[in-house]
Amino acid sequence: MNYKDSEFQAFSHQILFWYRSNPRDLPWRGTQDPYKIWLSEIILQQTRVAQGLPYYYKFVNQYPTVKDLALAPQEEVLRLWQGLGYYSRARNLHSCAIYIYKELDGKFPTSYEGLLKLKGVGSYTASAIASFAFGEAKAVVDGNVFRVLARYFGIETDIASSKAKKEFESLANKIIPQDEPGEFNQAIMDFGSRQCVPLNPDCESCPLSGSCFAKQQNMVKELPVKINKVKVKERNLHYYVVKCGNEWVWKKRTSGDIWEGLFDFPLSEKEKPTKAHPWEDFEAEEIQEYPKKYRHILSHQKLNATFSELEIPQKNKEKLAAWCEEEGFLLVNEEQIDYLAKPKLIVNFLTDQGI
Ligand code: SF4
Repeated sequence: MNYKDSEFQAFSHQILFWYRSNPRDLPWRGTQDPYKIWLSEIILQQTRVAQGLPYYYKFVNQYPTVKDLALAPQEEVLRLWQGLGYYSRARNLHSCAIYIYKELDGKFPTSYEGLLKLKGVGSYTASAIASFAFGEAKAVVDGNVFRVLARYFGIETDIASSKAKKEFESLANKIIPQDEPGEFNQAIMDFGSRQCVPLNPDCESCPLSGSCFAKQQNMVKELPVKINKVKVKERNLHYYVVKCGNEWVWKKRTSGDIWEGLFDFPLSEKEKPTKAHPWEDFEAEEIQEYPKKYRHILSHQKLNATFSELEIPQKNKEKLAAWCEEEGFLLVNEEQIDYLAKPKLIVNFLTDQGI
C-alpha cells in the first residue's frame, strides 16, 4: 500500500471535519481527567455506550477521584459493577486504583509507555488516555478503526490474524495528526460506530466516498476481512467476454469449485492450466482489454480478475454454437443476460459496462 503523507492528511482532515459536524455529547468527551477517561474506557470494553453510561455515572458519583475508588471496599466496587460481567476487570480496576493511589501518589502516568504498565491497561486504553488526557500522538485501534481503515485504504489483511494489530496500528500512527491526536482518535472511532457501520453503511452520504477504496471497488461488504484461521488461496482469473452479434458466450459453473451453478464467462487462470480456448479458430478479434482490475474476496479465496472483449464474426456463428454445445458453454442473447444467476464479481463488471 503506497500512500503519500498528503493523502493521510486529507483523510484525517475529512474525519475531523465529519466529527465536528456530527457532535455527540458523551460525559467523558472534553475532559482531560485521566481517571474519568480510564474509567470510561474500562467500562466500555464490556459494553455499548448506551449500556455503559449508567455505570460510568454510578462510578463517577460514588468515587469522584482515583483515591475514592482505591479506598473503597472491593465488595462495594464489585456490586457497583454488577451486570457488566467480566468481574476480573472490576478487580483489576480496583487494584489499579490502589496502585496509583499508593505507589504513584494518586497520579496517572503521563505517557503511553507508563500507562501500559498499569494492570488491565492494554495498548488501546493506554493510547486513549495518552492522547485524550496528555495529547500524545498515539493512535487507538479498536474494531471501529479496523473497519474504517480496512475499507478506506483497501487493506485485506485478516483482522483476526496476529499481524493485523501491528499493521493497522502502524498505519493509524502514520495518519494521526500530531497537533490534535485526542480529537482525531475520538473522531475515527465515532466515524466507525456511526457512519462506517458494519452492515449497510450509508456510503452515499459519506464525505469520504470519493476516495474510499471499498466504495470505489464495490467491496464494502467484503472489508474488513475476518477469516479465522481458514487458509486463503489467491487466484488470478482472466475472463473473455466473447460476443457474436448480440449473443454472448457464458459458462455455467460446475461443482468442485466456487460459485457452483452460477454463470460467468470463459476464462483462463494463471494458477491452473485451463483448456485453451479456440478463439483464433473463430477469427475472433480482440476489441479491448478492460483496464480495471477487480478484487473479490470470498471466505477462503481472494480473486483478482481482468476482462477482455472479443468479437467473433457472424459468419462463424454456427461453428461457435456447435463448439459451445460440445464444451458446455452457452450462447445467450444480450436481453436475456439479466435473467442469469451471476457471481457478484461478474455483476460488478457488467454494472461498470452499464449492463
Ligand atoms: S464510503 Fe462507505 S465504506 Fe467508505 S468510509 Fe464511507 S461509509 Fe465507510
